[in-house]
Amino acid sequence: MSYAVKEMFLTLQGEGARAGRRAVFLRFAGCNLWSGREADRADAVCRFCDTDFVGTDGPGGGKFADADAVAAAAAALWGETTGHRYIVLTGGEPMLQIDAILVEKLHDQGFEIAIETNGTLPVDPGIDWVCVSPKAGSEVVQRRGNELKLVWPQPAPPLPGHTPDDMEHWDFAHFLLQPLDAEGQNEAHATACIEFVMERPLWRLSLQNHKLVGLK
Ligand code: SF4
Repeated sequence: MSYAVKEMFLTLQGEGARAGRRAVFLRFAGCNLWSGREADRADAVCRFCDTDFVGTDGPGGGKFADADAVAAAAAALWGETTGHRYIVLTGGEPMLQIDAILVEKLHDQGFEIAIETNGTLPVDPGIDWVCVSPKAGSEVVQRRGNELKLVWPQPAPPLPGHTPDDMEHWDFAHFLLQPLDAEGQNEAHATACIEFVMERPLWRLSLQNHKLVGLK
């Protein structure tokens, strides 16, 4: 199987429970909740996306012929630095393309594998760290993992069974609330998150540290 990768680069994990960790970021092309075209945004399930996941033209991106080629490119980006190899598979929606052979080949290269997914598709069981970020209006089937990262406030009403109350019964080790990044509203969104966390101590505030320090 071939893989369509928007971009792949070495950076620090910017947000979530593992913020600050050295990581290869591999962004797959395509998402099942929005086409990525502005003309379709108003009718999409997910309407607040700020990520370009269309095509394969980003740095380190391209069409990779097989899993070996993806894993070799990731290993080359990591370089000679020894130990603790870590890769974050994101998108778009990465589970549209991830399969068992890719997981195996990344493990063979020594990577611990994390995923950031919208949770609408089951995650490959070989993945080591699962971060689910639910999007209002979508059906989340992946209700267990390491961290649940809810962008807040969400612009659309939740489906039945998808309120924060419901999510507190899902099987995650970390419950994170992250202010929705929207021009002119960031202060209000941060305030909403702080108030939420003050009322619900299960949750923790997650900030996008990479934006604070100028990392991609
Ligand atoms: S699910 Fe994620 S990648 Fe897909 S449109 Fe929403 S924010 Fe963007």
